[in-house]
Amino acid sequence: MKPMKPEFNQDTPVQFLKSVGPARARALSRLGIETVGDLLCHYPRRYFDRSSAVPIRGLQSGQDVTVHGEILTASERRTRTGGSLLTVTLGDDTGVLFCVWFNQKFLLKQFRSGRKMMVSGVVQMHGGRAQVAHPDFEVFETGGKDDDSSPGLHTGRMVPVYGLTSGVGQYWLRGLVHQALTKMEDLHVDPLPDYLRAAHGFPDRRAALENIHFPPDKPGLEAARDRLVYEELFTIQILMALRRDSRRGQSGVILNKPGDLTTRLVGDLPFNLTAAQRRVLKEILADMRSGRSMHRLLQGDVGSGKTLVALIAALFVIEQGHQALIMAPTEVLARQHGKTLTGLCEPLGIGVETLTGSTSAADRRAILAGVAAGEIDLLVGTHAVIQENVRIPRLALAVVDEQHRFGVRQRGRPASGSGDPVHVLVMSATPIPRSLSLTLYGDLDLSLIDELPAGRQPITTRIVREKDEDGVWDACRRELKAGRQAYIIYPVIEETEGQDLKAATVEFERLRDDVFSGHKVALLHGRMKGKDKGAVMAAFSDGDTRVLVATTVVEVGVDVPNATAMVIHNPERFGLAQLHQLRGRIGRGKHQSHCWLLCDRYLAEESFGRIRFFSENTDGFALAEEDLRLRGPGDAWGIRQHGAPGFRLANPLRDVKLVRSCQDDARELLERDPGLDGPDGRVVRLGLKIAFGKFMPLQAG
Ligand code: ADP
Ligand code: MG
Repeated sequence: MKPMKPEFNQDTPVQFLKSVGPARARALSRLGIETVGDLLCHYPRRYFDRSSAVPIRGLQSGQDVTVHGEILTASERRTRTGGSLLTVTLGDDTGVLFCVWFNQKFLLKQFRSGRKMMVSGVVQMHGGRAQVAHPDFEVFETGGKDDDSSPGLHTGRMVPVYGLTSGVGQYWLRGLVHQALTKMEDLHVDPLPDYLRAAHGFPDRRAALENIHFPPDKPGLEAARDRLVYEELFTIQILMALRRDSRRGQSGVILNKPGDLTTRLVGDLPFNLTAAQRRVLKEILADMRSGRSMHRLLQGDVGSGKTLVALIAALFVIEQGHQALIMAPTEVLARQHGKTLTGLCEPLGIGVETLTGSTSAADRRAILAGVAAGEIDLLVGTHAVIQENVRIPRLALAVVDEQHRFGVRQRGRPASGSGDPVHVLVMSATPIPRSLSLTLYGDLDLSLIDELPAGRQPITTRIVREKDEDGVWDACRRELKAGRQAYIIYPVIEETEGQDLKAATVEFERLRDDVFSGHKVALLHGRMKGKDKGAVMAAFSDGDTRVLVATTVVEVGVDVPNATAMVIHNPERFGLAQLHQLRGRIGRGKHQSHCWLLCDRYLAEESFGRIRFFSENTDGFALAEEDLRLRGPGDAWGIRQHGAPGFRLANPLRDVKLVRSCQDDARELLERDPGLDGPDGRVVRLGLKIAFGKFMPLQAG
């Protein structure tokens, strides 16, 4: 029997496309592409305008150009600082252009002389010679496996440039997208009703997808992009509104008989709450008194004191006979919270337990029994562990710390015994620009801690070349001598071939035996067992260990106010948000803190710009906006790697106008047709199901 011809729709696995075998399917899945729909949402990063390449003679500094030529020479050499410099000379009939790459040695093998190549980038003139650094490029292969692509896609037009991975070539991917566009049968299903398309002058879905991948011209591309951006924002907006509405009538545990625990805790603190902490607490407690269930996002920069707010909220439910839960994204953080909260709760006679992946089976059973019997009032744990069917009979409040680490918001949450919806408080240190939070967190109410505890001194941050590292170590030793502690951060755990990054495990020995000899130095990284991690962290927070050599496991939440020095190796390896989280580990006490960014290589302009921006800014909001500007929301908020929908094209910073109009449109539609079962509503509902069905099944009604 002949195999059935597959019907091509969004959910068809990519293997059903011609030229995709198991190996290429695997390679594609590294790009997050499993289905034909995913493939069509793998939008181009940029375009080569091959309708208009320019001659090399006459190029001027600062011009952003595309040049077509032939590779004359290609060579690689070591630079004085130990990096690698790759130079390709590209010639056309009018002159020679130098293309250079730093530390991209692996590119060399593609640059065979005689091959045709196209490059795009910004021209710099150096003594009369034209150069582009790190250009976008494409080498035209002659023969070889990339020949199975459709002709006519690669020249003489605007050509898409996709993000790639090994095993997925530009040519081949272009052909594959083209094939998918031709074969897909449900492209006519459009989540935007006709009246909205008409109002905005948008092309239909098929035209938009065709034009975003293979634009006829610039205006055609703009129109396609606007439409797809609008569609992303609009559908998310509708989803959030539906979620918000479905909760609106939802009753929550009513808490209107406060006891004295919160007052006692606050009275015992060695400091006063900040005005911002008091304000957000008021908002949180008002929610929980209201009889409706709380869904609130608590935003506050690193070190602004969110943990304490969470604890007070927890005590508020505990003093009324209920239980509370605090979840953290990492084991290190869960254990730290467990320790801090136990310390604060013990004097009040409150039972706290911590549950993580490394809790022994016996302890786990005992803790769960204690929770079930109501002896444990406050349970702390990692998100992963708690979600596995933990039942907490009198649960009234669930706090989710450092939410942004999970990327898109998780749906599952533990249930209370009574089945009443639990109050939910989500906490995040990543300041989310308002335009984005309205869409991403549009179903939550927002509380903002916009002030740091008094007496904090701004952290100084310096960029230092590795050859000057001795000065950094001297400064660190001075901090240690004064009784303080230090973090030394590396981007990787172990050295791997082909990557000359300094690794934590190797450098650890040098730091322990040489740089910091006489001080207690410990190593912390993600591949250690949970128990060992806990022990290392505890010794550091007790002040017993003075120097912690670590990878980014300390990135979120870790709180050791006595640590005042941080050295970050290869800072270019981290995103702005991540750097901000890392640096947020210091500057948490009353002492002046210092951060050094240690660079061992020449950084490309873009990376350097980012690092410099970081060294000059400590405000989380400024950093988040810049991160969003540089990377777009998908990457900046880890949405993309979680494979969730939305923000593939849209960028709420750039697309402010579209954000606004789609909010108005969504509101109007939902007012007119709250259940989405009128003619327009049904179109939207179907579109949502097709676009997001895999991630967020829509319940009826
Ligand atoms: P984050 O908001 O980053 O989670 P934490 O909750 O870890 O910050 O708090 C950072 C540090 O500030 C902790 O050591 C905490 O005890 C302290 N802290 C919290 N609130 C105050 C306050 N009102 N005054 C002084 N220190 C505070
Ligand atoms: Mg925190």
